[in-house]
Amino acid sequence: MDCAENGCDRPACVELHIPWDENRVVCAPHARVLGRQDGVVADPLPDSADDLLEEGND
Ligand SMILES: [Zn+2]
Repeated sequence: MDCAENGCDRPACVELHIPWDENRVVCAPHARVLGRQDGVVADPLPDSADDLLEEGND
């Protein structure tokens, strides 16, 4: 599953729960940006937990 953001083809590893929009799955960098907005909850996808951790080593 790829990131839901336009122009982004990184693998999605986080589901964002967005109060004013539909839930979407995004890559770790986009989850960091979008997850800073008030009310947004970032929920790591279980299958991708290892990928998420690796992203943190950049
Ligand atoms: Zn992305």
